[in-house]
Amino acid sequence: MHELGVVVHIIKTIEDVAKDEDLTKVSKVVLEVGEVSTVLPDLLQSCWDWSCKRSPLMEGCALERVVIPAVTRCDDCGKTYETVKYAKICPYCQSEHTYLLQGNEVRIREIEAE
Ligand SMILES: [Zn+2]
Repeated sequence: MHELGVVVHIIKTIEDVAKDEDLTKVSKVVLEVGEVSTVLPDLLQSCWDWSCKRSPLMEGCALERVVIPAVTRCDDCGKTYETVKYAKICPYCQSEHTYLLQGNEVRIREIEAE
């Protein structure tokens, strides 16, 4: 289960931050989740709830997701376009030499803590 790995990693990161900053309770975390990341929202939420119950710091912590749109850049014409709409083929020059600029990431945007 990929989502659990993601959640474990995120909570570990938050716990490290909490240690450095003397936080005792994290009440809310805002995550940026890329549009084409393979993280499923429902699974993410249930893994989140499961993991938070096991950490005194994270217990009852709310999870909020912000979806980051996926953008692909074409190497041949230099233009960028919506990944979800056109996938790997550039809509401007039909090139296949394209790469994902953003939209595959899962990262912490914000932490609300005491
Ligand atoms: Zn192009």
